Amino acid sequence: MSTEPTADSFDTLGLSEPLRQAINDVGYEAPTPIQVKTIPLLLAGQDVIGQAQTGTGKTAAFALPILQKLDLKQNEVQALILTPTRELAIQVAEAIHVYAKRLKKVRVLPIYGGQSIGQQLRHLQSGVHIVVGTPGRVMDHLRRDTLNFDSLKMVVLDEADEMLRMGFIEDVEWILGQAPENLQTALFSATMPPEIRRVADRYLHHPATVEIEHKSLAVPTVTQRYLNVLEKQKLDVLSHVLETETEPGEAVLIFARTKVGAAEVAEKLQARGYAVEPMHGDMSQAQRENVIRRLRNGQVEMVVATDVAARGLDVERIGFVVNYDIPYDMEAYVHRIGRTGRAGRTGKTVLFVTPREQRLMRNIEQYVKQRIEPMKAPTRAHVAARRIALFKERILQTLADEDLDLYLSLVEELAEESGRDIAEIAAAAARLAREDKPLVVDLEPEPEVVAQPEEGMVRFFIEAGRRNGVRPADIVGAIANEAGVPGQAIGAIDIYDRFTFVDVPGQYREQVLTGMRGVAIRNREANIRIAMPRDAAAAPSAKKERGGKHKNIYRGKKGSKKFARGSY
Ligand code: AMP
Repeated sequence: MSTEPTADSFDTLGLSEPLRQAINDVGYEAPTPIQVKTIPLLLAGQDVIGQAQTGTGKTAAFALPILQKLDLKQNEVQALILTPTRELAIQVAEAIHVYAKRLKKVRVLPIYGGQSIGQQLRHLQSGVHIVVGTPGRVMDHLRRDTLNFDSLKMVVLDEADEMLRMGFIEDVEWILGQAPENLQTALFSATMPPEIRRVADRYLHHPATVEIEHKSLAVPTVTQRYLNVLEKQKLDVLSHVLETETEPGEAVLIFARTKVGAAEVAEKLQARGYAVEPMHGDMSQAQRENVIRRLRNGQVEMVVATDVAARGLDVERIGFVVNYDIPYDMEAYVHRIGRTGRAGRTGKTVLFVTPREQRLMRNIEQYVKQRIEPMKAPTRAHVAARRIALFKERILQTLADEDLDLYLSLVEELAEESGRDIAEIAAAAARLAREDKPLVVDLEPEPEVVAQPEEGMVRFFIEAGRRNGVRPADIVGAIANEAGVPGQAIGAIDIYDRFTFVDVPGQYREQVLTGMRGVAIRNREANIRIAMPRDAAAAPSAKKERGGKHKNIYRGKKGSKKFARGSY
């Protein structure tokens, strides 16, 4: 069973030493299929049509050849990358920065609408090698003559079908019409509608088409699920999933995309008390074999691996595979999920999908020809229930298996001496046994258990909390200084690990929303907003306030914690 003819390393693609070092620094272990095919073609000066979407590694596929071909002595725009959105422009520019780390002073400028033209102008005048921009703003600069194509050698149309969908294709053509004749052009598009074909026929010279054909692989029969998650939540969600989805004694294999990522996730899980090891290409064969041996015999519960390192890994104990980072191609997905369900056992898998990766996830689903069922992130209540269930099981197991005579007499003796109930003593012993890992998930309460603010107050939610070093004085200071609310008018402040609630009299509502816009607290953008009850949409909690404005009432559970200023 083999996948695409993938090169195992970046060394054979013709990339220069500084670029290979930069790739190693970011921790990419092997080129993705689109990179294997595209990089040598672009380096050789060919025009390329790449049928590839986000998540396949297409950015590096064009960015690395561009960087290699730049003449850094020439302080002029030599490459232009057109993207449909400003987010993508920024992202591509950032990726180029990373890949250019070991080259001398490559200047990359993202230009997009909504950003001050003046600032862009100053950058352009001071000399830029690569421009990454949205079509509209690039056109503006060309028209004003603030961007010129005299030294332009390469153009990339990134996500061409998206540009078409967003109505930019005429602008793109206009821009291409301004470019010099002997240009090298690459066009990347997830789909190839006729309009994109037409653009390719018109502006590309004898392009090579790079498509990733997918070999059909036998898909193992394991339970596959996916979980929508934001990048920044991944680690918390992972640890909750590990608690609720794994069986005692079962090994877990977690997949990360890069060596650096694998090492990081392993380290963070170690810090949370798991017996976990990384496994990636920077480790020697002997080190990797050692990890596998320890996984097999149960000394290690979990391994966080890259695709290359886990190739062929065959450990029967693996009952659960977590795709922490989505794989960049379907075959990799099938190889990954095949690491569980070995030797006739059952296995299950989950795939973390961030908003940008939805499409890739659908492609994977089509490829495996079965529905990948959605899964909800476990709640804290869920995690607590599972901890309690496992703890009860362990107690019963101990009752069944162990000789408890000594402990029985100890408990009886204690009951007699203290006059306490046996049940109370058992409770205290259970509490002691759980000292390291309390049964209740000791994190901030979920927003719905937060109490209602006092009459006349509005409760605000701030995206910074104890973990960011927030203290009550920071909150009072920011609201008083930035929004002009008198310090003594500010009500209850409640600081949790990652967020903070603060109550402010209703009449300052707009003042706070406006004044605090863009304000940072402890170096973190506060993103202040009105704390909304979960069921806000269903419950129009309209209560007249002075000025006739509606107030959002925070609907807390009865008996939840009272708020007092500084009750953090
Ligand atoms: P893209 O398809 O260009 O949006 O890339 C998707 C993600 O894959 C980005 O986070 C890249 O950093 C990452 N990536 C690109 N090439 C590789 C590679 N060869 N190995 C691991 N990750 C990669």
